[in-house]
Amino acid sequence: MSFTRRTLLQMFPAAAAMSMAPGVAVAAPHHVVVIGGGFAGATVAKYLRMWSNGAIAVTLVEPRIKHVSCIMSNLVLNGQLKIRDLSFDYDTLESKYGVGVRLDRALRINGAGKEVKLKDAGWISYDSLVVATGIQFDPIDGLSDYREIPHAWIAGAQTKLLRDQIRAMPDDGTFVMSIPQKPYRCPPGPYERACLVADILKRRGGLPRVIVLDANDGIQAERETFTRAFTGLYGDIIQYRPLERVASVDQENRIVYTEKLDESGNRVGEDSAHGDVVNIIPRHSAPNLLVKSGLTDGGRWAPVDPVTYGSTLEDKFPGVHVIGDSQATGQPKSGHMANAQAKVCADAILRRAAGLPVDSDERLANITTNSACFSPITADEASWLTAVFAYDREAKKMALVPGSLGEAHRWNSENYRDMFSWSENLFADSFN
Ligand SMILES: Cc1cc2nc3c(=O)[nH]c(=O)nc-3n(C[C@H](O)[C@H](O)[C@H](O)COP(=O)(O)OP(=O)(O)OC[C@H]3O[C@@H](n4cnc5c(N)ncnc54)[C@H](O)[C@@H]3O)c2cc1C
Repeated sequence: MSFTRRTLLQMFPAAAAMSMAPGVAVAAPHHVVVIGGGFAGATVAKYLRMWSNGAIAVTLVEPRIKHVSCIMSNLVLNGQLKIRDLSFDYDTLESKYGVGVRLDRALRINGAGKEVKLKDAGWISYDSLVVATGIQFDPIDGLSDYREIPHAWIAGAQTKLLRDQIRAMPDDGTFVMSIPQKPYRCPPGPYERACLVADILKRRGGLPRVIVLDANDGIQAERETFTRAFTGLYGDIIQYRPLERVASVDQENRIVYTEKLDESGNRVGEDSAHGDVVNIIPRHSAPNLLVKSGLTDGGRWAPVDPVTYGSTLEDKFPGVHVIGDSQATGQPKSGHMANAQAKVCADAILRRAAGLPVDSDERLANITTNSACFSPITADEASWLTAVFAYDREAKKMALVPGSLGEAHRWNSENYRDMFSWSENLFADSFN
């Protein structure tokens, strides 16, 4: 299979192909609690209600009135989009699909007792639980909060802060950013950010610098595209430093201290970088809600079976599912992927509630997910990347479909326009 821009655009509706078997009726009342209303949580809540014809009760727990999409949020930095363009409330999930939305925060999961403790409402019980809480960041020495040095990797106030700092930069200023060890959310995202910041600064006509400190051994996605952008279009602006991991930060003086690594990840030296603006993206893990409850089994991410997205620690967490960036299947951490996983998970919960198997030959053969990312390289040109995964019955995991890893041959304005249709589709499919 070889991918072109056209197949990428056709691919999106195919993500919904895994739908409930017609005529399936839920046997007894079933209450699903979904924690987190991002791409993963909003989609699973919507599809559970839609595919069960309202037979399943769904409560969505989310502390924020609106979800701000990280997807497209780099375009807030150059002023092309506003945060309000990327903000989605839960009104449609409530009014059109009958999802019960609670503005609250989950604090603890009692797996054996099948209940969740909410900050305001106390304990609520569930038959199935879907945890879709995204990511949290590792602490970094010297970085007390993100008020001076933003991450802007969870969109909202942080994105605005970074935008305002870039606006106030001198024309000859230096922008320093860091990329954490993989896996992190949106593999091409940091390289896209470096390009867009270089584009903003280049248009001002000074002699700016963009220093990219990458804890990984090289560019993690769209390698050809970003190598060309870093060495060609922005060759006089971007300095790319792979195998350099942030060790600590002098917040007041905006100095980043780094460890230089060899290919095996051993420390072989040290360095530093000073910026007029510093943007640190720390290493990620699943949030404490999962880590402290034991759902991550002592690791960074929650191990799940991709047939259902049920926790592999079934004895301790019966009926608990984890989808989106928090889970550990090895698929890319992206919003498109979170949306696809949500549908597989919704289908599995509904089948179980109806007393049907989740491992029929037909179903296993149809478990596929896909991911797509568009990357703006300039203010009006973009590239794209896509990958399809299918369930491998022997390995019992999701595997990249051979030949499905597609990458744009060049960045151009057509891709830039397509990026808006793709993202609008994804936003609508998740939140409307
Ligand atoms: C700059 C950037 C660009 C990106 N571009 C793309 C792209 O082009 N394509 C793509 O597919 N992906 C892209 N991504 C990645 C994408 O945004 C994430 O992979 C996606 O948001 C993951 O969805 P999620 O639902 O798992 O987590 P999130 O979107 O983070 O949602 C988690 C939700 O859980 C809530 N929550 C957290 N803790 C609790 C709790 N204790 N109780 C209740 N609720 C809680 C949060 O408030 C949040 O609303 C990009 C990311 C960035 C940063």
